[in-house]
Amino acid sequence: RAKASRMRHLRYLEGQDEQHQRRLMLVRDLQHAAAQGQLKLVYQPQIDTKSGEINGFEALMRWHHPTLGLVSPDEFIGLAEQSGNIALLTRWLIDSVGRQMAEWEARGRMLRISINLSAQDVIDPALPDRLESVMHHYRLSPARLCLEVTESAIIQDPVLAHRTLEKLRCRGFRIAVDDFGTGYSSLSQIRSLPIEELKIDKSFIFGLDDSADDRTIVRSTIELGHNLGLEIVAEGVESSVSRQLLNELGCDYLQGYFISRPMAVEDVPDWIEQYDS
Ligand code: C2E
Ligand code: CA
Ligand code: CA
Ligand code: CA
Repeated sequence: RAKASRMRHLRYLEGQDEQHQRRLMLVRDLQHAAAQGQLKLVYQPQIDTKSGEINGFEALMRWHHPTLGLVSPDEFIGLAEQSGNIALLTRWLIDSVGRQMAEWEARGRMLRISINLSAQDVIDPALPDRLESVMHHYRLSPARLCLEVTESAIIQDPVLAHRTLEKLRCRGFRIAVDDFGTGYSSLSQIRSLPIEELKIDKSFIFGLDDSADDRTIVRSTIELGHNLGLEIVAEGVESSVSRQLLNELGCDYLQGYFISRPMAVEDVPDWIEQYDS
């Protein structure tokens, strides 16, 4: 028995060690991921709840590691933040999205795109200039780029974050609070932020069809947001039931697997055509 337990513990330690090795490897390789063309963006559509029209797409990052295969952003974004590499990824993100929007625009598709910013991006004083110069370079209107920032990112340094967001807002970028409901921001904090959009976290949307509590939370969030003059997006819409409920609750935009999973960039034009027809 004691031996079995020792063996278990040994396997546990080996597991820990493997995880540790994996993290070290990811952190090391992250630094070259962008330069070596291992990063890709996938795009997930967002639709207008009432009209069903396409409102835009959220760009989500993917890392195709040469030996480990596809690594999830839930794993590598956190590591990039901890190891001080996130600015590198964000720079790549901004350039790629700018180039992509310009390419679509050249073919007559004026799409609105959302990107995700991390806690460190939001307090980076160089970010507003960098974003502006990319948009300028590709002759794009900043109003077509929505910057998604989580509540928890803002809360890490509210004063600095507020300052950066204010600058971005002044330059015409659209700002959304992502994962709303999962952080601990107070109402007054949200109210003083220069934002236009709240994205209700998918954990509340998943429960819509069978949890009365989640329905209450979603209903009051929509009400609260509207009263503050904000537009509301629901993410994680996976069923027609949630879509129907969100329509009844007056949610402005919907995003989720029920509409589409995130797709490769080359699939976007075909998807739009099929959806529109
Ligand atoms: P997020 O910004 O909250 O993005 C939504 C996540 O939910 C995405 O996961 C998306 O694929 C997934 N999702 C969308 N609809 C559904 C649905 O109906 N059901 C379910 N189960 N999931 C759905 P993904 O792409 O794995 O990204 C995870 C997180 O990684 C993102 O959460 C975001 O916080 C972060 N992330 C992704 N790309 C970037 C990036 O370029 N920069 C930064 N800083 N963070 C990123
Ligand atoms: Ca997001
Ligand atoms: Ca989210
Ligand atoms: Ca998230």
